[in-house]
Amino acid sequence: MNVTTGPAPYRDMCTDCGISRTAAPKRCGHACQFIHPRYDALETQVHGRTRDASKTDELHFGPHRRMLRAALQPAASGAQWTGITTRIAERLLETGAVDAVLAMAPDPNDRWRPMPVVVTQAKDMAQCRGMRMGYAPLLSLLEPAVAQGHKRLAVIGIPCQVYALRALEKELGLEKLYVIGTPCSDNTTTERFHEFLQLIAAKTGDAPEAISYLEFRADYHVELRYDDGRKRAIPFLQLPLSQLPPDFFPMTCRTCVDYTNVLSDITVGYMGGEGQQWLLVRNERGEELLKLLGDEVRTTEPGSAGKRLGAVKGFISNVERAAGGLPLRRMPDWLRPIVGWLMPKVGPRGLEFARARVEMKAAETIIHLRREEPQRMKTMIPIHVWKLMEPYGMQPTREELPK
Ligand SMILES: Cc1cc2nc3c(=O)[nH]c(=O)nc-3n(C[C@H](O)[C@H](O)[C@H](O)COP(=O)(O)OP(=O)(O)OC[C@H]3O[C@@H](n4cnc5c(N)ncnc54)[C@H](O)[C@@H]3O)c2cc1C
Ligand code: SF4
Ligand code: SF4
Repeated sequence: MNVTTGPAPYRDMCTDCGISRTAAPKRCGHACQFIHPRYDALETQVHGRTRDASKTDELHFGPHRRMLRAALQPAASGAQWTGITTRIAERLLETGAVDAVLAMAPDPNDRWRPMPVVVTQAKDMAQCRGMRMGYAPLLSLLEPAVAQGHKRLAVIGIPCQVYALRALEKELGLEKLYVIGTPCSDNTTTERFHEFLQLIAAKTGDAPEAISYLEFRADYHVELRYDDGRKRAIPFLQLPLSQLPPDFFPMTCRTCVDYTNVLSDITVGYMGGEGQQWLLVRNERGEELLKLLGDEVRTTEPGSAGKRLGAVKGFISNVERAAGGLPLRRMPDWLRPIVGWLMPKVGPRGLEFARARVEMKAAETIIHLRREEPQRMKTMIPIHVWKLMEPYGMQPTREELPK
């Protein structure tokens, strides 16, 4: 089952998570993370407690029991990394723990466009592997899924989808809900993403339609794969970012505050994985999900190296200087390949890289909202975001503090 996606009802700041398309669209008012997020209340609802700032890394990554570096063995073909996300959902269906999974498949007319689907057969999870860029109304499938009698569900989602799902969880009449979350940052519309692909292709001399895979890796390179099997890694510093329009990333994605998907049962990402995947097992249900993989998954302790302070400070200055546009580094062209070569060796790595990225996102939220939507700051920025920014001297005014 999938949805037809006409234009969504208008909402000011919206990533079309699907709630505005349901039978009760007014629920956006209490379900949306862009209106009035209540992370403390929802963390308590989901994990039994809020993030504990005295525990290492909870301030940055939200409540969790443990973090792991992980790889599925063998890696699933077509997966974004090794396919842990879709394999967990496959196992839930195989074992009969759920009736259906809500996830994103590629649109048949555009492989980069996400298309929400309800999957009821384990074998059909394979179509969902891989990352698409853009928004699609995943949660509009909740009502049709329940109407078909699927009351034990798993949902794979990005943070703004998972926030709305958790905010409404108690009203959905589900018997069971498993949430497999991925981190998310720097998303944009699929149309805009195609502009980016075209610029990259113009730089490398390839056809944009031949690019089948793209990922911003933790070693400061973008990896591209092509239909003919070729691969390429381009240092971030050599990307054609200066040619993108200043509003390439919508205000939603420049100011959302939950990079690591803190309301999921398990977060499956790569940022803290130093070339492998990075898991945050957040609660008992997350443990259950990981256990489903048995010895198909190899796990190790995550590593951490380098120091993030300088990198984050530099990023903050770039964002401030860009005055609402893209944070480009001021650097002569001849220096870019050298710094691009050095960054994976001396920059923050592993968990330190993940901490740096979370802090960078927190800084972006504050800077962009202060410039463009200051009246939203007191409702959209939770106190933990301000705590993350203390080492950088970014402090709230009384008007900006949460009410
Ligand atoms: C826009 C975006 C930005 C991301 N940014 C980061 C990041 O900065 N750091 C990080 O660690 N991880 C990020 N991720 C997650 C990362 O790309 C991988 O998806 C994740 O590590 C899981 O890999 P996997 O091999 O286990 O996934 P797979 O098994 O290949 O499954 C991928 C899953 O992603 C879902 N999906 C694909 N595209 C979308 C979409 N557009 N919207 C919602 N769901 C989608 C599908 O339902 C599928 O189940 C991002 C994901 C997206 C969609
Ligand atoms: S809840 Fe979802 S659909 Fe509603 S405004 Fe927020 S992102 Fe848009
Ligand atoms: S960057 Fe934030 S707002 Fe944008 S799609 Fe990802 S989670 Fe949603």
